[in-house]
Amino acid sequence: RVAEPAREVASVCPYCGVGCQVGFRVRDNRIEEVVGRDGPSNQGRLCVKGRFGFDYLTHPDRLTKPLIRIEGATKDPADCLEPARAREKFREATWEEAMDRAAAGLRSIRDGIGPNALAGFGSAKGSNEEAYLFQKLVRTGFGTNNVDHCTRLCHAASVAALLEGIGSGAVTAPFMAVHEADLIFIIGARPTENHPVAATFIKDAALRGATLVIADPRGSSLDRFATEVLRFTPGEDVALLNAMLHVILAENLQDDAFLAARVDGLAALRAHAEAYAPEVMEARCGIPAEQIRRVARLFARSPAALTLWGMGVSQSIHGTDNARALIALTLVCGQLGRPGTGLHPLRGQNNVQGASDAGLIPMMLPDYHRTGDDAARAAMEALWGAVLDPAPGLTVVEILNAAERGAIRGMYIMGENPAMSDPDLAHARAALARLDHLVVQDLFLTETAALADVVLPASAWPEKDGTVTNTNRQVQIGRAAVTSPGEARQDLAIIVDMARRLGLGWTYAHPREVFAEMTQAMPSLANITWVRLERENSVTYPCPAPEAPGEEIVFHDRFPTPDGRALLVPAGLSQPEELPDAAFPFVLTTGRQLEHWHTGAMTRRASVLDALEPAATVSLAPGELRRLGIAAGARLRVTTRRASIEGVARADPALPEGVVFMPFAFREAAANLLTDPRLDPYGKIPGFKLCAARVEPV
Ligand code: SF4
Repeated sequence: RVAEPAREVASVCPYCGVGCQVGFRVRDNRIEEVVGRDGPSNQGRLCVKGRFGFDYLTHPDRLTKPLIRIEGATKDPADCLEPARAREKFREATWEEAMDRAAAGLRSIRDGIGPNALAGFGSAKGSNEEAYLFQKLVRTGFGTNNVDHCTRLCHAASVAALLEGIGSGAVTAPFMAVHEADLIFIIGARPTENHPVAATFIKDAALRGATLVIADPRGSSLDRFATEVLRFTPGEDVALLNAMLHVILAENLQDDAFLAARVDGLAALRAHAEAYAPEVMEARCGIPAEQIRRVARLFARSPAALTLWGMGVSQSIHGTDNARALIALTLVCGQLGRPGTGLHPLRGQNNVQGASDAGLIPMMLPDYHRTGDDAARAAMEALWGAVLDPAPGLTVVEILNAAERGAIRGMYIMGENPAMSDPDLAHARAALARLDHLVVQDLFLTETAALADVVLPASAWPEKDGTVTNTNRQVQIGRAAVTSPGEARQDLAIIVDMARRLGLGWTYAHPREVFAEMTQAMPSLANITWVRLERENSVTYPCPAPEAPGEEIVFHDRFPTPDGRALLVPAGLSQPEELPDAAFPFVLTTGRQLEHWHTGAMTRRASVLDALEPAATVSLAPGELRRLGIAAGARLRVTTRRASIEGVARADPALPEGVVFMPFAFREAAANLLTDPRLDPYGKIPGFKLCAARVEPV
């Protein structure tokens, strides 16, 4: 047979929030190569995941038929670690039987116990259209607002603080603003690992002469381009940022004109900041007072300063306070609304911005209207032809807590893997196992699917059409490059099928129909159409006119608050999460690594990425390894108040003494067995970045 000539399909990388545009080079229904296209966020560049992260599509583990739990087969949380044993507890089924079983279980709980005994987790790994339809299904088909996704474990605290402070949870400028910035302030983020292509532009900007200030307990490879590096004590963001605010206000470096015209709350913030002199805070945050003063002056006096932050700020039980202090710093100095300035929480997953915008969160309808907002709810009820519950739903961790105590009895989980991503996994897995009815829609028999009653084989991103929204607010279109294996179906079709079986008369046949409805439900998408996206590939929102480019920099004259003004919210010091003590003398911090993404379901099945990082590592400062008498490569045990796991010792000179780092992508050493489940009271995000731990040789 003569081989089909290779063709290139334009799409978007499905991994991180940078949203690089890619070309899938396809022959005989296989992706042979991935190349970078000239997208607005990548300009042809790709990282190792975008380049080599796609042969998971044809991995033998792909689900190709629906599965139903065999009658009497127990749900054992230990099955999460034993995929072969978990698989034996399922039998293959037809789509008709599986969907019938899946919907009947959900209907029975809805009608017998009540809508709030149900919950759904959608996914930031899917498209905007899937996120929108999934939350609509939960709100109108289940009848509850118990719908959430991994934004809760990512930037929920940042969004809470941004909505409170400036009335919008999205970035005020794209990360490409680094090219116009005189100063780039990065705090609690590791772009070289988590937003790798963005990191290359940051490096370009620093080499061009921008002042780079990096604040993070861990060092990074960007440090060598930085003018100032502040390796502050883990968990002490507020102490550092309030000390900078103290300097700025005490030395009259604030932007008085900006504050007078656009910001409320200065008097209260000024009074609050008085107690945070750098000389008082240096013992707490570990940064010398003189360096704090120097950096504060640099930031305030910079003609244009851009602030980028990541999970280090938000994944904390006081993450909202961390973000409040950061927002206050920017507002006080008027570093927003002009080229080269702004607030940019680097969004983690490829579509966490779009999924949140689409309403895949329990307290907000699409476009961030609170469920309790009568006018907004009435508008959505009119569009959807349904009655909506005004009460906000439960968040990710709250839903599993409710499952554990028997208040949530059934769940539909599309593309999320809480049996790996939630904190205190032993508890999360037990809660999932306790559900009367769990439907999981995914590519593989994930750790979560191992505990399901019905497993629905889904489609991977390169197998479907759809839009995604990256960290820069760029709505981008992806196109199907290959077909799904076996009987795996398009996620959108599965959601629509489920909706019909729950009594909704949905007829959506293509994502473009869903996108058209989204533009009615979401004024933020005004002037962005499917046709336009097919033509232009990417349009930034907000977009003022049908042919106009979107607005990259927003809020240059007013904020989207009722009176157009921002609010300074003072943030106080709070007790760190779990303080190290004699029994647990280390601080454990968790996160991602360059080669693996989120819970590893895709990247650990991508051969090049898995070959680069095949095993769970436990990283410590070289001096700590010496002190413990452990050689790099030896096995280590890490224990917290919740569990013990083992990994391979790695020396990391970027880590401070007393801190241990573990990635959370490894099933066999799931770092989230160790993490602390307590939540930030506002963003409801757990403190993944800090808990007390013990480290010892195995
Ligand atoms: Fe994909 Fe992010 Fe890498 Fe770009 S930087 S190729 S979006 S993982």
